[in-house]
Amino acid sequence: MTASSLGKVYLVGAGPGAADLITVRGMRLLAQADIVFYDALVQPEMLTYCPQAEQIAVGKRCDQASTQQRFINKMLVDAARKHACVVRLKGGDPMLFGRAQEELAELTAAGVVCEVVPGVTAALAASADAGVSLTSRGLARNVLFATARVGQGESPADWVAPVVAADTAVLYMGVKQAAEVAAALLAGGMRADRPLMIVENASLPTSRQWQLTLAELADVAGWNLSGPAILMIGEVYRAAAAIRVSEDKCWSNVA
Ligand code: SAH
Repeated sequence: MTASSLGKVYLVGAGPGAADLITVRGMRLLAQADIVFYDALVQPEMLTYCPQAEQIAVGKRCDQASTQQRFINKMLVDAARKHACVVRLKGGDPMLFGRAQEELAELTAAGVVCEVVPGVTAALAASADAGVSLTSRGLARNVLFATARVGQGESPADWVAPVVAADTAVLYMGVKQAAEVAAALLAGGMRADRPLMIVENASLPTSRQWQLTLAELADVAGWNLSGPAILMIGEVYRAAAAIRVSEDKCWSNVA
């Protein structure tokens, strides 16, 4: 098979959830796709942008992530052999905690041309919902995007020191292990009264926000949140309650 007979694969960021937070470019590509592989976090409403396309769910279960990822990589290469326009629709931004590198490597090795279309990552949507800026003059001049999820061959504590040192730290995939995260941060020297914010279902009508301190974080493990949730840590969240966006935010009804 020559490269010229292969289709092109687009890794498209779906954004944080709300169907109107995908980019115009991403939406146009969905409208011309032959086949769309979409993540578990992609809202069904977004698939109405690609009624013409074959739609394939490739949601991963955490415990089988690596096996499934190999299978997804293979499906993408196979699809490029059959179709001109293949879209891999990934939650948030593809280049942030989205296994994009593995997909790009596999596709490129097979001679498939790829293009990445960025998306609004969860940290930015969560900040919008919370009404708290990630940076703030005098309080926060750097922001860290991190995860406490440890992959094969990584040291469990690698993530702690940078999170403790950051002015503002955003932890992806950390809320389910809130107790372990809290213990690691306390052991790493973070103060128990360090303010935090948790945002669940950012950008969706079901979005919820909580302001708490590191001392209270361990309790969150028992909350059984059903939607995706993100943890944000930093002084900027100390005064958060005072400037919290009200329940009836004026943009919530925008179609
Ligand atoms: N590539 C994605 C992140 C994938 S990792 C992005 O750029 O956003 C999945 C994690 O992202 C979840 O465990 C959660 O921590 C966070 N997340 C994704 N969507 C979210 C949402 N709508 N609200 C809150 N957190 C979200």
